[in-house]
Amino acid sequence: MKKPKWIVVTHGGAGSSKKVLDAVTLAARTGMRMLRKKNSALDAVEEAVVVMEDDPRFNAGTGSVFRIDGTIEMDASLMDSEFHCGAVATIKGVRNPIRVARKVLESPHILLAGSGATEFARRMGFTYHSPVTRRALRRLSRVQGWLRSGRLPKYAHKWKSYSLDTVGAVAMDSRGIFATSSSTGGTSIALPGRVGDTPLIGCGIYAGPCGAVSVTGVGEAIIRQVLSKSVYDKLVAGRSASEACKWGISLYDPSIPMGIIVVNADSGAGASNTGMPVCILAR
Ligand code: ASP
Repeated sequence: MKKPKWIVVTHGGAGSSKKVLDAVTLAARTGMRMLRKKNSALDAVEEAVVVMEDDPRFNAGTGSVFRIDGTIEMDASLMDSEFHCGAVATIKGVRNPIRVARKVLESPHILLAGSGATEFARRMGFTYHSPVTRRALRRLSRVQGWLRSGRLPKYAHKWKSYSLDTVGAVAMDSRGIFATSSSTGGTSIALPGRVGDTPLIGCGIYAGPCGAVSVTGVGEAIIRQVLSKSVYDKLVAGRSASEACKWGISLYDPSIPMGIIVVNADSGAGASNTGMPVCILAR
């Protein structure tokens, strides 16, 4: 079978429903358009994520969930198979955290966090943007109500309450370079300052000469497995993109929501234990 020249895979988060498949598909098409115009895999995964950060139905960019103190802090990262990587953690008041992560990638650093990340964004020309949405405000008042009453509903610890609608993309360009990206408002209920897997290279994302991986789910569970790098190592060992995804999901109890997308030179694949929306395009 002829190998594809370009591949893009996008996901809308382990906690998202198929209702957002339209945006996940639009994001993948945007990535493919970038590749067709001879842009890099890195450009493709950045633009794909921007589409979903700008859609308020996702917990990334506009639409991000609140921390329990009523602030919004966002994480994003991207990496390519030439080991260029950039990330921001707990950044505030920007429209597209993934674009700031790209600027970090172009700097001598890999990860900027907190006020340093926000200050860096301003210096790079990113103006203030409020990511607040009605949906996020409704959730905040529900969460604060639970906390004030001292009574969390029984389902508050279940995955449905985590707001796991993070976004991600992986791609291969015509030079055979792979790239990966991810963006999130984090989980809810969470303390201010909490950093999940998304901005941590090897945990939320990883790319190398054998392919690229982006994951979503409960960040603390992902970090413990260094999940993206562990899945990537399966590609190195000769497993297919689909086998590597399924292996990663099999590490977790089904009660822990998890989603993985992978690209290698042969194909793109996605797997989850939640019915996560995924779009795979190849030409
Ligand atoms: N992994 C993200 C985090 O823990 C959440 C998600 O994937 O939806 O911050």
